[in-house]
Amino acid sequence: MSLVTHIRIWSVIISLQLMSLTTAAPNTYYLPSDANYLASLQTPDQRIGHQIGEFHARHDQVVAYMHYLAEQSERTHLIDMGKTWEKRSQVLLAISSPENIAKLKQQIANNDEFNNDAKAPLVVWLGFSIHGNEASGTNASLLTAYHLTALQEQAHEQVLQDTIIFIEPSLNPDGYGRFSTFVNSQRSLNLAADPMDREHQEPWPNGRTNHYRFDLNRDWLLAQQKESQNRLKWYQHFQPNVFGDFHEMGTNSTYFFQPGVPERQNPLTPEENFNITDDIAQFHAKALDKIGSLYYSKEDFDDFYYGKGSTYPDIQGNVGILFEQASSRGHLQESVNGPLSFPFAIRNQFTTSLSTVAGAHANKDKIKDYRQKFFAEASNEASNDRNRGIVISAGGDTGRMAALIENLLFHKIKVYRLKDELALNGKTYKSGILIPFQQRQYRLIKAMFETRTLFEDNTFYDVSTWNFGHAFNMDYDYVERRKWKDRLLGDEIKNSTYAPGKVAAKSKLAYIIDWAQFTTPKAAVKLLESGIQLRTAKSPFSLKTSEGVKSFAPGSLIIPLGIQSRAADEIYPELQAVAVDLGLNIDAINSGYAVSGIDLGSPDIKPITLPRVLMLAGTGVSAYDSGELWHFADNHLDLSITQANLTQFANHSSFVDLSRYSHIVMPHGRYNVLNEKIVARLSNWVEQGGVLIGMKSANKWLSDQKLLSLEVSLTTSSMDNPDSLQYSDMSEDNAQKVIGGSIFDTKVDLSHPLTFGIGKSNLSVFKNHRYIIKPSDNPYLNIIRYTEEPLVSGYVSSGNLDNIANSVQLAAERKGRGSVIAISDNPVFRAYWYGSSRLFVNALFLGTVFERSNR
Ligand SMILES: [Zn+2]
Repeated sequence: MSLVTHIRIWSVIISLQLMSLTTAAPNTYYLPSDANYLASLQTPDQRIGHQIGEFHARHDQVVAYMHYLAEQSERTHLIDMGKTWEKRSQVLLAISSPENIAKLKQQIANNDEFNNDAKAPLVVWLGFSIHGNEASGTNASLLTAYHLTALQEQAHEQVLQDTIIFIEPSLNPDGYGRFSTFVNSQRSLNLAADPMDREHQEPWPNGRTNHYRFDLNRDWLLAQQKESQNRLKWYQHFQPNVFGDFHEMGTNSTYFFQPGVPERQNPLTPEENFNITDDIAQFHAKALDKIGSLYYSKEDFDDFYYGKGSTYPDIQGNVGILFEQASSRGHLQESVNGPLSFPFAIRNQFTTSLSTVAGAHANKDKIKDYRQKFFAEASNEASNDRNRGIVISAGGDTGRMAALIENLLFHKIKVYRLKDELALNGKTYKSGILIPFQQRQYRLIKAMFETRTLFEDNTFYDVSTWNFGHAFNMDYDYVERRKWKDRLLGDEIKNSTYAPGKVAAKSKLAYIIDWAQFTTPKAAVKLLESGIQLRTAKSPFSLKTSEGVKSFAPGSLIIPLGIQSRAADEIYPELQAVAVDLGLNIDAINSGYAVSGIDLGSPDIKPITLPRVLMLAGTGVSAYDSGELWHFADNHLDLSITQANLTQFANHSSFVDLSRYSHIVMPHGRYNVLNEKIVARLSNWVEQGGVLIGMKSANKWLSDQKLLSLEVSLTTSSMDNPDSLQYSDMSEDNAQKVIGGSIFDTKVDLSHPLTFGIGKSNLSVFKNHRYIIKPSDNPYLNIIRYTEEPLVSGYVSSGNLDNIANSVQLAAERKGRGSVIAISDNPVFRAYWYGSSRLFVNALFLGTVFERSNR
């Protein structure tokens, strides 16, 4: 061992020791000692006012530093990608040679296509801390940006000439803001490393998620959140060859970088992707060896679901790489590897940020070739595919179709209107969209619309499927070559805005809106809030309208004018505005006397009222599930709901005036903190007309408290011969119990008011839990049931599948003037389950429209 190495190792040991004793680290701890930096450029700590790692840099400070670099250096350009829900800036700093940056600026100003052909610079995008409470990444981004901008070395100049590096310092600014504020506010002068200290115990909701408590590292493909939408626009523009996705994991671990478990890579991803990741991994290994940090690879983390930052690039000819640093979750925390300091975590992330750039640069030709090959092969596959494309229909629901189109366009998928009728598999597609396979994103399209039930590795702690046709409850079919005609292809769809709707004519009697339209419930909220009375029809009927006789489905939303406190002339412009805004075509009725079915004054026409919703949230309730329901009500219904803290509700329930609420929603959660007294109050509130809605585990609580008469249990599943199991089987045995998330088929009783608007007797639902509702002996309570062979797509063990088959997906019973509704799954999973969202909507609007069953 040379003297130099010796000194280096000692300095590593000394600085590690220092880390556990001091609160901060000077730049010399992070930055290479032999680096030559531009003296005029200030380091992040100079701008921020504390050493890196001493506190968590606030998001606004991080953004300000990126702006500072952009103002100071010709090597940089700052792109403001947009604003988060909480109006924080999502910034992206480009770093490259002054010539490349000048070109880039010009190209952005001219709105030109980005050139990423073989001769163009390699593009590397480093994305930090998409989980906001995995904060070492965002803090490392400051050092990374400084280093790459300030470094004055010939070799580095070559790298900058060959590469454009994008730094996205925070992929989840709102979550990071929540976490950094919390953790800074708990920091002691004498750091508390005890894991029991408040600093290491984040309150609900933690900083992992965004404003609506969504995991943004699941939303890349679903694109339901502002942060993803803003980012995708630029991601698709630059198509980075390499994407680094910087995370944190458990405090007692070390450092992980991909490649991950080979068998857990999505089979649609070419093997070469794994090999390139492995080539780049050599650079991480060497860099971490140099600073004495431990690490591992290949044993953990899957690359299956394309909705993650490390996987989304893989299906588009690029390479996504996952990094996971052991989390100090605070400034200093005890771990099995000794005190783990925030600066130590930051230094590892900084180190692998640089090794990603170095590794990508060293393999740049291979990486560029790989992308060319990826798309050449994809084009070949598309030519050889027995199908020419996919036809999709929303059955005339413009809102849902617009949402799907918006998603496809985010991914730069080309979509066309269906121009001619197409008969396939017993269905006739009259209107809808066509997605031709012969296009750049062929493989991504396949990934979005495939169904898969066989897997090389059955370990799924997260979703194993995400089919968009099922999620949006749309009819879709592959169009075989022999069925394909070019005349089917209408205009290319360039944006997702739908045509404004209209009120057919002025009426003196009534207007009717189709309940099956995705935007109708939003219209209902708007009208009810402005004091307009609404009715729903429990049976079908046909009436004379201004445009002749029309049939109306059960659930049709009726606005009778004679019963309103306001004049018909006043209501008309309001309706017109709603029609235009929400793309709804509203019928004007001339006579209440039915051509067939019920008349407009029928007892089967029931009032509906504005839901006054209390949803339990906070500690004990799933942040994800409650967040998804909140997001849905807030965005898709424009309905203000009350989110009450479960513990507060449990401890002070006698102060809560339940009569203020028409609905109480209990998302997935642990409700054993609610005592007998509260159960009695809830029961009484239901008798008085309240609608109590349970989902997932909440249904078990409802059943145990006898608020729901149906039995709820957990699936039982284990490997075939328990007697033959040995210790080494345990991890697979455990994995088989999990229902990570799969798509199941259900049979819908379309005559029940709680299913109005679904329109199809089979509804796909998403299940990611083990709670099963046993069918009631009373058939009228089992409104939706899983079919006999319900698995549509995804992994589920055969034992779990047997349990799910024929169980109940939606049960509801009247109690007094109110009702209890059990929805087995979360119907608005990750906000892209537009189809089953109808179950939540109907529970809110039609929760007491159905009759009691005396069977
Ligand atoms: Zn993470």
